[in-house]
Amino acid sequence: MKLAVLTSGGDSAGMSAVVRAVVKAGILSGCETWIVREGYEGLVRGNTDTQIPPTIEEPFADPAARQRVRSGKATNLVENLRFGDGDLLRDGTGDHARGRTLKGRYIVRAGWDDVRGWFAEGGTLIGTARSKTFRTPAGRLAAAYNLIKEGIDALVVCGGDGSLTGADLFRSEWPSFVTTLHSEGKITDEQLSKHGHLRIVGLVGSIDNDMSLTDLTIGAPTALHRICEAIDNINSTAASHSRAFVLEVMGRHCGWLALLAGVSAGADFIFIPERPPQTDSWEDEMCDAIQMHREVGKRKTLVIVAEGAHDSNLKPIRADYVRDVLTERLGLDSRVTTLGHIQRGGRPCAYDRILPTLQGIEAVKAVLEATPDTPSYMIGVSENKITRVPLMEAVAMTRAVADAIAAKDFAKAMSLRDPEFLQSLDGFMTTSLLYKEKMLSEEKRMRVAIMHIGAPAGGMNAATRAAVRYCIKQGHTPLAVHNGFKGLLDDAIHELSWLGVDGWTSRGGSELGTNRTLPSVDLGAVAARFQQHNFHALMLIGGFEAFNALLILENGRSLYPAFHIPMVHLPATISNNVPMTEFSLGSDTSLNALVDACDAIKQSASASRNRVFVVETQGGQCGYIATMGALATGASLVYTPEQGMDLDMLRADVKFLKIRYGLDAKGKSEGRLVIRNECASKVYTTSMLTDMFRVEGGGLFDSRYASLGHILQGGVPTPMDRARAARLSLRCMAFLEEHHQSLLAQPLKSRCAPPESAAVITIQRSALKWVPVTEMVKHADMKNRRGKEVWWESVKVWVEALSGRSELV
Ligand code: ADP
Repeated sequence: MKLAVLTSGGDSAGMSAVVRAVVKAGILSGCETWIVREGYEGLVRGNTDTQIPPTIEEPFADPAARQRVRSGKATNLVENLRFGDGDLLRDGTGDHARGRTLKGRYIVRAGWDDVRGWFAEGGTLIGTARSKTFRTPAGRLAAAYNLIKEGIDALVVCGGDGSLTGADLFRSEWPSFVTTLHSEGKITDEQLSKHGHLRIVGLVGSIDNDMSLTDLTIGAPTALHRICEAIDNINSTAASHSRAFVLEVMGRHCGWLALLAGVSAGADFIFIPERPPQTDSWEDEMCDAIQMHREVGKRKTLVIVAEGAHDSNLKPIRADYVRDVLTERLGLDSRVTTLGHIQRGGRPCAYDRILPTLQGIEAVKAVLEATPDTPSYMIGVSENKITRVPLMEAVAMTRAVADAIAAKDFAKAMSLRDPEFLQSLDGFMTTSLLYKEKMLSEEKRMRVAIMHIGAPAGGMNAATRAAVRYCIKQGHTPLAVHNGFKGLLDDAIHELSWLGVDGWTSRGGSELGTNRTLPSVDLGAVAARFQQHNFHALMLIGGFEAFNALLILENGRSLYPAFHIPMVHLPATISNNVPMTEFSLGSDTSLNALVDACDAIKQSASASRNRVFVVETQGGQCGYIATMGALATGASLVYTPEQGMDLDMLRADVKFLKIRYGLDAKGKSEGRLVIRNECASKVYTTSMLTDMFRVEGGGLFDSRYASLGHILQGGVPTPMDRARAARLSLRCMAFLEEHHQSLLAQPLKSRCAPPESAAVITIQRSALKWVPVTEMVKHADMKNRRGKEVWWESVKVWVEALSGRSELV
């Protein structure tokens, strides 16, 4: 099959990663892979120039192979390695047309090495455009002709809802275009019968995250990173001068960026299109809220306005006006910051490398399986599951949101957003606003102990902040237990306040202090402290130790009545080794720290052309960070504790590196990364592996190593970890409240908490699930401190496939 990929509409980080994944997965599936430059405009313009033969042919001594490569019919990975226009697509100036050489050629063959390293680049390296001509039937007819001329019968499109609508329309009209072209004598009988059906699959590239039926669009996480970085910077100056900042962010019909930035960065007030202020006097509502925050001592104010924000009569709410209101009514020194295009750009964050890669692979599978009877699919994601949804259904639902807003039916607009959007909005209200009235009556209120356990992880503080704010809103008393169970025994406990946790969303490490001490250190004394401080509920935030601690406390219920209270564990660990949950807080921060470090290392490795860099990661006995990090950085090999290391494997790996470096074009070898988890093997250590590569590499490649160690704990937590922390933490609080209320029905002296009231909150595929700790232990490998099931095994397979190892060895 001849498969082409194009990027269209507004650019977003991660689009280049889509192209890389589609080209590589396409080649691995036996497709001939093509790139369409400049979106649909390139399709319409097509090729007026003849294909230039690839310049690099040295490895192809076999004349037949050379001929295949020359004529664009490379059959396997080796022949595809540098096939295509190679460096023609990039010249370092961002000029994809590359001056003379690509002029007149918009549909070009792309080989394996043409797309190497593309996930680390912002925007789209193959260009994007808004094409007026493609909107016309004549334009689309020309596009069909240009594709048939090159023999292409499958298209992967990455763009927004406009681009995907265009794609679906193009596919539905295709049969009539083919007939027209044939009757006009432009295509042959053979072409007519061969190109009766166009296979199309869509991927959503949009920084607004405005597409329905998918949790995230490619580019949105990076845009959120840029916004949160800006807010973190603004916060310090705002606090210094006690200023108010009004920040305008992108989002015409979708308030996702404004909402998630509000949750992740802790704004005072937000304006989004789907939920305008409930009253006409929103100025009063906003000023009252901010005034209350100021009265409790807050020195800075942050209001986030989505570009498309309006009041309930659809009158736009502009950042400048909000600033004037704050200045005039509250006397605040107020400034406006409009982020604009800064949000589009920059290096993609880890998720904007992983998501497009996995979705690109799925797109190739979907395109191969497409028949005239299947609908055009859009590749989406639901929590941690890559999905296929009918493209037009998603587009129609997306349009329905805009229509509902235009018709002032805001309840409908909100109902069409996914449940996570609603939860986030609810979460924003709970964690950002200060409420005058307590929600619960006196007898239902709890004293909630919050404790961090194990190593620090990004998001621990954000989760604590959300829990504290929830408690204060409901009327509960949030109690910080400092320094884990050790601190509990030392009575290091104090009440947390609304203002005290205000800046915690962006703080890394653990504000409460944390260590690995388990309650078994002195279970009786721990129970005594529970009783003495009158805890009604307990929230543990941490990794495997926290799970273990919860298990010990639950078991302790048979001995100590003080443990008959609801208890939750919110997983937070960079190793992501808590059983049954696919994500722990901190794992995204850690992945981003790994990606940042590896980008820098790879640059250095590439500068010396032929260097293999072995990077050692933390992660204990769990290979999650190493594996996902390898996928996000395009590492050639990855070693995990789950799989271990042996001589046969190493022999094959050395063979692979030799073949791969041997196939590199002269002077164009790249630095390559190998990621090794610190516990992958006791014998084949990182330094031994490095020495072995150096010796075996001979004149082909050299080797060095770097150990990332505690760098992986990350500095500032990522927006994804902060937002997830708030969402999960609020669910934990609701869980504690619910179980506490059931317990209230029992007589105080003989209260007996059921096993399910000691549970862990988990993310499983596309859902949040509560798992009683007694159940979780069945899925835990207590010796190796990890879950028994590993969901990322298939990711490791893809790391090796995308580096070419599976095919070349
Ligand atoms: P986005 O894909 O980001 O929503 P646009 O709405 O501008 O961006 O669409 C990008 C391109 O997709 C347009 O320039 C046009 O070429 C094509 N396109 C959009 N809508 C249609 C349509 N209804 N019919 C045909 N082509 C369309």
